[in-house]
Amino acid sequence: MTAGDALALAETRLRENGVPDPRLDGEYLLAEALGAPRLSLRLEKERTLTEAEETRFLSLLKRREGREPLQYILGTQPFMGLDFKCDPRALIPRNDTECVCEEALRHIRPGMTVLDLCTGSGALAAAIRKMCPGAAVYASDISPDALSLARENARRLGAEITFAQGDLFAPFPETRFDLIVCNPPYIPEGLRETLQEEVRREPEAALFAGPDGLRFYRRIVREAPEHLNAGGYLVLEIGDDQFAPVSALLEKDFSEITLIHDLSGRPRCASARYGK
Ligand code: GLN
Repeated sequence: MTAGDALALAETRLRENGVPDPRLDGEYLLAEALGAPRLSLRLEKERTLTEAEETRFLSLLKRREGREPLQYILGTQPFMGLDFKCDPRALIPRNDTECVCEEALRHIRPGMTVLDLCTGSGALAAAIRKMCPGAAVYASDISPDALSLARENARRLGAEITFAQGDLFAPFPETRFDLIVCNPPYIPEGLRETLQEEVRREPEAALFAGPDGLRFYRRIVREAPEHLNAGGYLVLEIGDDQFAPVSALLEKDFSEITLIHDLSGRPRCASARYGK
């Protein structure tokens, strides 16, 4: 089998199985099997795969045909220009979430203390610490699995973070922060069946948030005032239709309530300052 044959085979089989980007994913899988940069494959279509490469490629292809997320197969995903390990212990870092990180960084200065709630893979906490090394970064998650992956990511990237396991603020009962960032679960239960197969392979505790998707925002917004210094910021990732209900929650104790869109132009982040 040549590289060209492998790409054609992958495209056909992935398309038949409803994979959204069959051609691109085929390139990623072949590049992974060959240990070569994806863009070099186009110049090497005539190259014949060794038996070991072919076996490896076919086994990766089979996993992707079964709709395992590409990032779990490749094992990494870039976020804010950093390479994060990913596996089924936590949600895969999304490009959409970069606007949440950027909004948090806009308010963070050296010397500040920052908490990343529901840290998952640790993407927000580690990116913040790498981009503002003068900040003291704390992160929590209720899932011990997610936290073990977050710790690995922080170690790999050399990001110094204080991690603690527990439900939302529980691990930091007495601490006040200058900024709290959070990408909580926010998908309404009723949308479960509409999600892509790949998303359904991610931990459900990272995705679903009660009948209206607002379960965690209610708690975070209610509890945050006990954990923010006056004038501190709360920066939340939100779903497409959630800015209105989330800002209604924020209005009681927060000002400067701001909506930020992601790169695809969709509402993705609500940010607010503690105090009126
Ligand atoms: N943005 C994610 C998705 O649409 C949801 C992640 C979350 O609930 N925080 O799959």
